[in-house]
Amino acid sequence: MTQLTRRHLFAGAAAAGAVFAGSKTIVSPASAAAPAAGTQNAGWYRYKVGDFEVTVVTDGQGSTPLPDSYVTNTPKDTVAKDLAALFLPNDKAIHTYTPVVINTGSKLVAIDTGLGLGAYAQSKGKLGQYQANLKAAGIDTNNIDVVIISHFHGDHINGLIGPDNKPIFANAEIMVPETEWAFWMDESNVSKLPEPAKGQIKNPARVFGALGDKVTKYQGKKELVPGITSLFTPGHTHGHHSHIVSSGNSTLLVQADVTAGAAMLFVRNPDWQFVFDSDKPLAVETRKKVYDMASADKMIVQGYHLPFPAVGNVEKVGNGYRLVPATWNPSM
Ligand SMILES: [Zn+2]
Repeated sequence: MTQLTRRHLFAGAAAAGAVFAGSKTIVSPASAAAPAAGTQNAGWYRYKVGDFEVTVVTDGQGSTPLPDSYVTNTPKDTVAKDLAALFLPNDKAIHTYTPVVINTGSKLVAIDTGLGLGAYAQSKGKLGQYQANLKAAGIDTNNIDVVIISHFHGDHINGLIGPDNKPIFANAEIMVPETEWAFWMDESNVSKLPEPAKGQIKNPARVFGALGDKVTKYQGKKELVPGITSLFTPGHTHGHHSHIVSSGNSTLLVQADVTAGAAMLFVRNPDWQFVFDSDKPLAVETRKKVYDMASADKMIVQGYHLPFPAVGNVEKVGNGYRLVPATWNPSM
């Protein structure tokens, strides 16, 4: 094999194109003149866990200039270097939002609900895409039997109600962590919130008030729906829970915000303390426990703030972890 230079490579590609085009010379000048589409395809992805079907639905993506204290125990330039190592812009924090719906065969279960339609309008469609993408995936919110909430930050609960304050999941039982409820329904706890989260203190009362406070509370390790068990994973918030989904020989960990924000940073650097985590040392401890378990047990991991479709396996590398994204499967 001769050594490939860049020039050879492109000449080769052109030759390959000619071969694949076959005997007819296919020239398509029309496609070159077509206007750019400027839109993305519907954002959902589906895979199986045993007999269960998991539909991953993007709620969208936003970014902010990288704050000075995004990681409170690490200098900004170190964080910027790590973003560059991930081939991401080193001056921005990119945030993705990825709820899931699980069809267990007997129940249709949503875990977390996105930023809501208000965010869709405000961001001109960049955020709050959950409802539209659910519809594109063929899921009607009226058919959801259970909504499980991991914690009470707005990006997880605001999608429970519409702009008219009516419930989006009209026929669903809403299950929420008991410790999370107790924390957020007491406004004096605002003093325990990190600075950037303080503004959210009244939001859970607004959202759940619109639902008439009709919720089922759960806590710790509890089977919420056959095959879906909660796991107390505190730190990101006081009452934060993850969920373990089991069917046949397969186990999926729906981690919620065990790593949050630009979550890949905290996969690589589990000791880094995220400005938005309520109890930062506890969040670090939880992160390591959860990922040690997931890597030892070879669990599939679904992460709310990981890059879409936000699913893969986690393995230990040095002092941190590596996410090996699941390979896209074009059939079920
Ligand atoms: Zn979140």
